[in-house]
Amino acid sequence: MFSGIEEDEESTVFLSRQGGFDYEFVLPLDSKYECGICLLVMRSPHQTVCGHRFCRDCIFSCINSRSTCPIDNQFLSVHDVFPDACIEREVLELLVLCPGHSHGCKRRVTLRNLQPHIQACNYQVVLCPNQCASTVLCGELQQHLMETCALRPTKCQLCSAMYTLDKEQLHRAVCGDVKVNCESCGEMVRRSQHTTHLTTQCPEAVISCHYAELGCSKKLKRSCMEEHMNQDTQLHMQLMSSEYKKIKTFFSDLNRTVGLIHGSSFSRQPSLRSQLSASSPIPEEHIPDFNNSPIVPVPYHDRYKDGGAVNVRPLVGEDYNYCAAEGATAVAVSDQGDDCQYKNDPHSRLDIRKREGIAAEAQNYQQMLSNLNADAFNFSSNKLSSNERILREVSDKTVDLGQRLLEMSIVTDNLAKQVDDLKVTLNEELCNFSARSCNGDFIWKVGNFSALCTNIKSQKVSHYSPAFYTSQYGYRCCLRLDVKWRDSQYFLSLYMLLMKGDNDDILDWPFQGRITLGVLDFSNSCPKKHLVDTVDSNPQLQAFQRPTGPRNDKSFGFTKFHPLDALHNTADEGAEYVRGDVLFVRARVQPTSNFGDNAPISLEDDNNNSSVESFTAN
Ligand SMILES: [Zn+2]
Ligand SMILES: [Zn+2]
Ligand SMILES: [Zn+2]
Ligand SMILES: [Zn+2]
Ligand SMILES: [Zn+2]
Ligand SMILES: [Zn+2]
Ligand SMILES: [Zn+2]
Repeated sequence: MFSGIEEDEESTVFLSRQGGFDYEFVLPLDSKYECGICLLVMRSPHQTVCGHRFCRDCIFSCINSRSTCPIDNQFLSVHDVFPDACIEREVLELLVLCPGHSHGCKRRVTLRNLQPHIQACNYQVVLCPNQCASTVLCGELQQHLMETCALRPTKCQLCSAMYTLDKEQLHRAVCGDVKVNCESCGEMVRRSQHTTHLTTQCPEAVISCHYAELGCSKKLKRSCMEEHMNQDTQLHMQLMSSEYKKIKTFFSDLNRTVGLIHGSSFSRQPSLRSQLSASSPIPEEHIPDFNNSPIVPVPYHDRYKDGGAVNVRPLVGEDYNYCAAEGATAVAVSDQGDDCQYKNDPHSRLDIRKREGIAAEAQNYQQMLSNLNADAFNFSSNKLSSNERILREVSDKTVDLGQRLLEMSIVTDNLAKQVDDLKVTLNEELCNFSARSCNGDFIWKVGNFSALCTNIKSQKVSHYSPAFYTSQYGYRCCLRLDVKWRDSQYFLSLYMLLMKGDNDDILDWPFQGRITLGVLDFSNSCPKKHLVDTVDSNPQLQAFQRPTGPRNDKSFGFTKFHPLDALHNTADEGAEYVRGDVLFVRARVQPTSNFGDNAPISLEDDNNNSSVESFTAN
């Protein structure tokens, strides 16, 4: 009954994992409990329609591979096999010896109770959880972990550091509390204290004389230093005396310097009027003369070719004359360098250098003074010869001078800081004032123009002007300069953007009014050939709604304001738009007034919406 089985490779692998119960049974076994495949006592017995019994896993594995009964070769499918509950009950009542019986367990249990017993049995063999590779009986595991495991956690008796036992030698080699031999004096000192011992205590370590800083070049063992101090008092006193003279000279120099700084920091505050004129960094000859030159738009018909009709009005007469009398003209500064003019103020830099120098010197002398004090204390415990008394007096005076030196440097420091703060505040006030007082007539100086264009082309980022107001209580806006590729060439693009302002709550929204954008002519031609375009707002567009962020996402203006190359090649036209790599953009933003005497600007003769939309850029 248990013969005639061909073991192929697959079933061998299978049996090694899923066979019957392989234990030592107390009584001789009845052969009816034996699996016809694995020859062990059946685990979960199953019976076939041909009347043979096997472990469940054994017979299903066999059917999967050959579909016949291994005993009589009858055809079998998975539907021809059934659990045999009767035999299973009998099997589970069979008595076996505990698998730990070879280690001393005397228990005999039924197969049904075997697993619970194994869980609690002290005679089972387990692997050490510290992974020291030992196998230990469950009952002896605690003792192994505490006493014999080669990898048990251990505490350093000296410094309390924790490590596994195998790392003990490594730790002893670096432990800061292990005592080591001082190579100079032979004393045993703790490893962590060795450096301190050498620099402060070791009698055999060679050190410099306390007066090395003043010029004594003696280097001796620490134990010999006291003798040197006693013998060479005369030399040390001479050194100190000459140092005292130096300090005195330095102090009188410093006193003079502080006096100078004190005097000049007040005399250097210019009047508001002179600051105002100084805040415009544009050389006189670069500002076009608006009063003497009526503005005439340069015809550039290609600008309107793609159907984007613009409401261009002849810029002559009262409405469009850029008359300086109509409002103060704000001049914006785009060069970063100009914004930082106060940081680069040579006087300011001088102050900082002086202050740093003074502070460093003061520190040096403080260090020397504390050395002198320590020595003075040492000498006072011995008999004071007349020379030593003089030394004491010199030392006292030096302390006094040092104190006054510190006080003076603090005063200087505070004064210079006050001056710097005043400059910053004044500069902010000036910028704010000019942005509010331009009445919507704004000039933007764009410096480094060619580099800027290259940067915009490669980085695809726009360039924004500083903010300005359409009037003191009007809309806040700024300009955007861009370079766009259209019709096989680069165009200079100009736009206006609304920004969040102080007056937004009392203004009418959306913004309505007229926007004039232009590039100014530097040449001497008469009349000037400024490039000018005018357009009226369209209340439907996003660009004119009240800003919700710092500035509106949408801007409004002219994508093809002027071909970029044509800005430079203007010899034929007698105009000059870029001089010294500087371009002047001028904007006039005139809101329609719903308040007071001004007649509102009529919007009835507008072009249709779609044509205006074509000038809106993202
Ligand atoms: Zn089996
Ligand atoms: Zn069979
Ligand atoms: Zn046991
Ligand atoms: Zn272990
Ligand atoms: Zn240690
Ligand atoms: Zn030593
Ligand atoms: Zn010395």
